[in-house]
Amino acid sequence: MPREPMQATTDVLVIGSGAAGMYAAIEAARAGSSVMLIDRSLIGRGGATVMAQMTVAVALGVQTPDHWTYHYRDTVAAGRGLCSGPLAQLLCEDAPACIEEMDRFGVGWARRDGRIAQATAPGHDRARCVYVDFLNTGPAVSKTLRGAVNRSAGIRKAGDLCVVDLIRDEARIIGAAALHLGSGAGVMISAKATIIATGGLTRLYQRNSASANMGGDGCALALRAGASLADMEFVQFFPIGHLAPRLIGMDPIMWDPFRYKLGGRLLNGRMEEFTSRYGSDEDGKYVLTRDLASYAILKEVEAGRGSPHGGAYLSFQHCSGETLRAAFGPVIDRLAANAIDLTRMPVEVAPIAHYHMGGVVADATMATELPGLFVAGEAVGGANGANRLSGNAITEALAFGRRAGRSAAALARTIKQQPDGAMASRAALDLIGTCGGGCAINTAEMIKSLQAIMEHDVGALRSEEMLVHAQTRLAHLTDELGERPRGDGEAFDLERLEWFDLRNMLLVARTVTEAALARRESRGAHRREDFPATDPAWAQNQIARLKNERIVLSAALVDTLTTAAQ
Ligand SMILES: Cc1cc2nc3c(=O)[nH]c(=O)nc-3n(C[C@H](O)[C@H](O)[C@H](O)COP(=O)(O)OP(=O)(O)OC[C@H]3O[C@@H](n4cnc5c(N)ncnc54)[C@H](O)[C@@H]3O)c2cc1C
Repeated sequence: MPREPMQATTDVLVIGSGAAGMYAAIEAARAGSSVMLIDRSLIGRGGATVMAQMTVAVALGVQTPDHWTYHYRDTVAAGRGLCSGPLAQLLCEDAPACIEEMDRFGVGWARRDGRIAQATAPGHDRARCVYVDFLNTGPAVSKTLRGAVNRSAGIRKAGDLCVVDLIRDEARIIGAAALHLGSGAGVMISAKATIIATGGLTRLYQRNSASANMGGDGCALALRAGASLADMEFVQFFPIGHLAPRLIGMDPIMWDPFRYKLGGRLLNGRMEEFTSRYGSDEDGKYVLTRDLASYAILKEVEAGRGSPHGGAYLSFQHCSGETLRAAFGPVIDRLAANAIDLTRMPVEVAPIAHYHMGGVVADATMATELPGLFVAGEAVGGANGANRLSGNAITEALAFGRRAGRSAAALARTIKQQPDGAMASRAALDLIGTCGGGCAINTAEMIKSLQAIMEHDVGALRSEEMLVHAQTRLAHLTDELGERPRGDGEAFDLERLEWFDLRNMLLVARTVTEAALARRESRGAHRREDFPATDPAWAQNQIARLKNERIVLSAALVDTLTTAAQ
């Protein structure tokens, strides 16, 4: 039987402990707030940050003169007309201070001649991306922030707490209700300010680079609480996700940093370079942005010119063994353990769901339209428009996290009385405490079905027929899920957790699908086979809200929305 609910209070509640959540917590504590940093996983180990392997974009100008306005110009160009100006500016302008602070914290950015090294990545007009070498960027960022969190007075941490709903009184968000996985109990946390930092949603897809905690919880929490989401249709597919041969113990997106160093050649099944067919001069270089590269690979496969497993070849065979070892470092041995010798063979790669440009609407203080609610990191919508540049995601997690922490602390200072969430959290705690009900369902199978629907019908190439098909199938799954959680509510009840996951994943998948259906054009990561051209009339963000369980879409520029909310 589920246990009696537990209660906690704090000035600032941070939900999610990736780079965004940890930086937010550090900054809010620095500003004098009491902070509770919670995560459904272990603190600092649950989401994308700890898995990131590549680079962090920042106009440090160490190698080549640079300025945040140049970074901004590239970011906005990649966003294909849909970036929120203030958010993109915050990302680019605050990045140097965040990266330098991470350096002082001891992250260990790779250095050349004693100075922080910067690599060139597609879409950036100069060497702008810092990194921790040999696939260690994310682990190092995460470890460094975990250390800083541990040194900060005023931050309480709690893992294994999965937030199920935000708590809202009439006027504002006053905390969250969570399921404590270790006991099955509900937990009510009342807070003067709440920050969503729950990361992205690519777990919705069958082929993804996500952790198990990236099912779009933040979008679902915000939507149910009454906030707006922007740009939900823009899911980024990383073009060169590893496909074959089998690669054990390594991340499928690991090839990117080596392409920065060595170029690497992208070849179709006939061993021809092909991206020039799709309007690029990439052949032999690494310059094509992710949306265009994904499209080029998928079109080659569709034309019958794919590699044997349905992707493209990535070859480093033009490089000598010495060059490869210098660039790959110890990674070359891990590849050898997988029987991959890059001097003798190409590997196969194909697009894989990797990042979400959409998310919760916020202004440049990271405040959402709901008083008391802030958002940071990948859960934010609008900063990257229709396509994100390499390296901008960790940057936004740091810059938005820092800003959200500051803003939340500033708000908390103005609130004299601790909110009482007892009444407002009752429905959420009841849901957490419910036992059984309804016919038996197989939640694990349902997650697989959902991922297959999204992969096949709401993937990198879309059409009205596919999207309508997805809508119907998602509606069936939603009916099957029912309204009460399954499982017995005991400690670590996975069936119950999957029920709550599905509740969020289905809502968010429906939102992505409906937004993709409504956008009758192709732009950035959103490719409609039936509307292949970019339509200037669609140079608008799409805003999604939940009204009476229905997703309601409208077109607007996010900047006008957030200005109106202030
Ligand atoms: C494999 C991989 C490699 C990448 N490499 C790079 C790179 O090299 N450079 C780059 O710029 N970007 C990269 N990205 C993207 C980048 O890592 C992410 O966008 C960024 O780290 C997101 O940070 P975040 O703090 O917003 O979210 P995350 O780091 O994903 O953290 C979110 C946290 O929220 C928790 N959470 C989720 N839901 C709940 C809930 N309901 N209740 C409580 N807690 C919850 C999760 O457990 C998790 O710990 C990569 C992504 C992946 C997946």
